[in-house]
Amino acid sequence: MAPTSSNWSRTQRCTPTRVEQPTTEDEIVALVTAARTTGTKVKVVGARHSWSDIAMSDGVIVSLDRMQEVVEIDEQRGCVRVQAGIRLDRLNEALAAKGLALPILGSVCEQSLAGVMSTGTHGSSLVHGNIPSFVIGLRLVTGTGELVVIDEEHPLLNAARVGLGALGIITEVTIRVGPAFQLCETTEVLDFASALANMQAIARSAEYVKLWWLPHTSEVIVFRCERTSEPGEVSRLLRWVDRVIVNMLLFGLVLWLGRHWPGLIPAANGLVARTYLKPRCTVGRSDQILSLAMPPRHRETEYALPLDRAAEALSRTRALIESSGVRVNFITEVRFVKADDGWMSPASERDSCQLGAYMAQAPGIDGYFAGFEEQMKQLGGRPHWGKEFRASAKELREMYPRADAWAQKVRELDPDGVFRNPFLDRVLPAPRRRP
Ligand SMILES: Cc1cc2nc3c(=O)[nH]c(=O)nc-3n(C[C@H](O)[C@H](O)[C@H](O)COP(=O)(O)OP(=O)(O)OC[C@H]3O[C@@H](n4cnc5c(N)ncnc54)[C@H](O)[C@@H]3O)c2cc1C
Repeated sequence: MAPTSSNWSRTQRCTPTRVEQPTTEDEIVALVTAARTTGTKVKVVGARHSWSDIAMSDGVIVSLDRMQEVVEIDEQRGCVRVQAGIRLDRLNEALAAKGLALPILGSVCEQSLAGVMSTGTHGSSLVHGNIPSFVIGLRLVTGTGELVVIDEEHPLLNAARVGLGALGIITEVTIRVGPAFQLCETTEVLDFASALANMQAIARSAEYVKLWWLPHTSEVIVFRCERTSEPGEVSRLLRWVDRVIVNMLLFGLVLWLGRHWPGLIPAANGLVARTYLKPRCTVGRSDQILSLAMPPRHRETEYALPLDRAAEALSRTRALIESSGVRVNFITEVRFVKADDGWMSPASERDSCQLGAYMAQAPGIDGYFAGFEEQMKQLGGRPHWGKEFRASAKELREMYPRADAWAQKVRELDPDGVFRNPFLDRVLPAPRRRP
């Protein structure tokens, strides 16, 4: 038996029977075929950066850490074919070397491409969809050990774009890329009320826009990124200082104090807001500007809401914090995602606001997340698959119009449930009974 393993935030744990690190597609086919014969459960994982238990299993864990190569860069078609275990930061470097870039990225780039695809990982833009919306092809080993090659015309593409690890093991991904670009990030501080009043205009005020609000403070910071021809680079040293000195040491200390003396949190948030959340302007390579240095360990829950509910959702979150008395020590983040066609994508068929409630371990966190989730469900929200949520299969079926069709595909591609884990058992809708 392999030792107990956990996710990045150390909030989910499992004890796999063994961990496999295949190096070829053939090995994966053999592994799945053998697992099916013996009734063994298999779970493929990426970087295990999900807060939900989506990547947990007490069966065999398959890691594609040894399958991270760039297979082909097709500059003519504007796409790249890579092995599915590749980390986003490695992909970014390979693309930059060829004068190319991904048009969208989330806050960090330590995850695997297959992992971000499978959970609907997103950045913040109403011009661009989430990362999986750029995927135009993949190779998938199904639960019967069959290899399915999916291209842009394949009927399974939209079911597989955000597949929750349920349809099979993705071995290769083809994703659209564009020419490399520089971004200029500017920030603006607004009072909470005017951020709410102008939310829809703010959402469309730049190619990339997001908002941060530190609970117990009265201001919101708006980050806008636009393309620029100005040169500029975020140095490795600055990145290191941000990660180690600012995030791990200083912010880590603030969080530790708040965990032991929660009464200090509002004052600490005020101090952080005054020192860090200031108007500024930074120029750099797109991936350096769109992603941030790794934050200290914390927990996250997040819902995708219809875009026009963004202000109400943020306002309800503030009301929840104030009425419950919980002291929240981390930012609340508002991001935007363009609609896409992924059946199980949280932005499926609607422009969305992604509202994230974040908090490092401190008293009241579970009640806060539960209350937040209730509010977001009332507003028509859909949970982020990689973050904490408790919504049931019944509720998820209401949220996703294609949930039944997707579950049917899962049963067809994995008839014996080789890839099932407690997460999938919980979220996958059961077949509808005939009347
Ligand atoms: C610090 C931090 C910042 C984050 N920022 C953002 C953000 O800005 N935006 C956002 O949307 N999310 C964000 N996330 C969430 C994160 O992007 C997702 O949870 C993502 O899935 C993690 O990728 P991973 O490689 O760690 O996948 P894992 O957590 O290891 O796995 C996630 C799912 O992918 C499946 N999977 C992995 N590899 C394969 C494969 N080869 N074939 C089939 N299925 C596979 C797994 O089975 C599982 O179902 C953040 C997470 C952290 C810790």
